[in-house]
Amino acid sequence: MSLPNCPKCDENFSYQDGSLYICPMCGHEWGADDGDETPIIKDAVGNVLTDGDSVTVIKDLKVKGSSTPIKVGTKVKSIRVIYDAPDDHDIDCKIDGFGAMKLKSSVVKKA
Ligand SMILES: [Zn+2]
Repeated sequence: MSLPNCPKCDENFSYQDGSLYICPMCGHEWGADDGDETPIIKDAVGNVLTDGDSVTVIKDLKVKGSSTPIKVGTKVKSIRVIYDAPDDHDIDCKIDGFGAMKLKSSVVKKA
């Protein structure tokens, strides 16, 4: 199977890395499974997360500057999904007692 051309610059030097295709010419990355470019953020068990969802934290999380961790089971309402997060902190949310923060989608489960 030959790899598809880059949907962005149409060069054909794409290579595959896991579930991603990567174009070394322009740095574009896209999903190998689906041809479209809509990014998807999934929780720890594979549910797709979207803006406004409520999630539950599935493990204790240390918080910078706080002596109290965010406890497993903490409910987080009205998350905002960040599709182009520079690291894997792809959920923007507010947690009671902690304030605004970013979480990794891998540490939450859709409520
Ligand atoms: Zn490209």
